[in-house]
Amino acid sequence: VFSDVPKAPPDAILSASEGFEASTNPNKLNLGVGAYRTEEGKPLVLGVVKEAKRRILADASQDHEYLIMGGIPEFCKLSALLAFGADSKALQEGRAATIQCLSGTGSLRVGGEFLARFYSHKLVLTPTPSWANHKNIFERCGLQTQGYRYYLPATRGLDYEGLIADLQAAPEGAVVILHACAHNPTGVDPTPEQWRGILQAVQSRRLLPFFDSAYQGFASGDLERDAASIRMFADAGLEMLLAQSYAKNMGLYGERVGALTVISSDAAAKKVESQLMATARAMYSNPPKFGALLVTIILSDPELLAQWKVELKGMADRIHTMRRMLFDALQEVGAPGSWNHVLEQIGMFSYTGLTEAQVENMTTKWSVFMTRDGRISMAGLSGTKCKYLAEAIKDSVEN
Ligand code: PMP
Repeated sequence: VFSDVPKAPPDAILSASEGFEASTNPNKLNLGVGAYRTEEGKPLVLGVVKEAKRRILADASQDHEYLIMGGIPEFCKLSALLAFGADSKALQEGRAATIQCLSGTGSLRVGGEFLARFYSHKLVLTPTPSWANHKNIFERCGLQTQGYRYYLPATRGLDYEGLIADLQAAPEGAVVILHACAHNPTGVDPTPEQWRGILQAVQSRRLLPFFDSAYQGFASGDLERDAASIRMFADAGLEMLLAQSYAKNMGLYGERVGALTVISSDAAAKKVESQLMATARAMYSNPPKFGALLVTIILSDPELLAQWKVELKGMADRIHTMRRMLFDALQEVGAPGSWNHVLEQIGMFSYTGLTEAQVENMTTKWSVFMTRDGRISMAGLSGTKCKYLAEAIKDSVEN
């Protein structure tokens, strides 16, 4: 009965990993996947996560019972505080409804399902380009997606005028996806002043902001700074949605820990919360427990929280060092063109500006695996590999 099912298109990131595994080149590099690696190329389990895990295992009262549909209430409270800050009026006034979801993706999906059912507008605006799954997720919810200008290849920076023009031309009430920080894939973020301009455009068209926060603290090493855009919008009194992920900032990728918050009016918040739970119920009933327990332990213990901040800064600093080392290596090998963007872009990725043909050369000749849009993960790079990568880039640009 399923013989007519068409094969799904390959996933850009997973294809890069498969190519990497199959390659026999000893110099091969996997820069496709968005996961942090140590200088030795190994996954990192944070010290605070190890300690939280130890505490869970030592606690005889821990069991494997179900969580409720919205997850661990304390986790939800702490997650909202982490994003919106202790001074948040929206939190103080009880206008926020938060539920624990399956990492960032699951939070976006529950948010999309909620909007599809309860919001009057079906159009979701996403930046061009954006994390490819945004389009996937919202279309599967029955919503329509449309791009707004974001990245300007000529400057390798933000197309601020295009962005504002597109938001101002958007249908009133449309949903707009905003990357809270460390825009994926470009690594280009608006300045605080540009964020104020975006806020004005959003207000003037009464757009509904849906923030995607997958890199809080991981981008700059500072949890507050990476939440500034979210807080600017919330403090302006807007109704909005937020999807949070602990995949990168706590290294909990496979544990699927995240949260969805909907900020509405105080009269609506409780009703919204009940519908978020009903949405979760129909999708997966209730979220997994272990990862959310880890996060709850870390966020609620002042000592672990302080240690987490140090470890976060360590990851952000290593990525920054890789940017500097790759930039220096590109100068050293004499790669043509300007590579300042490698230094200036924010977060895990560098959007190199390599064309598809150049990426093809990187992969087939040099065994450097990356996504076809020219994005490389700086977190997957190590100091010893920078020279090789710079040579591969030089060769690909020249030929
Ligand atoms: N949004 C963006 C922009 C991302 O880069 C990612 C991770 N690649 C996610 C959401 C969600 O990831 P996860 O579901 O693993 O939290």
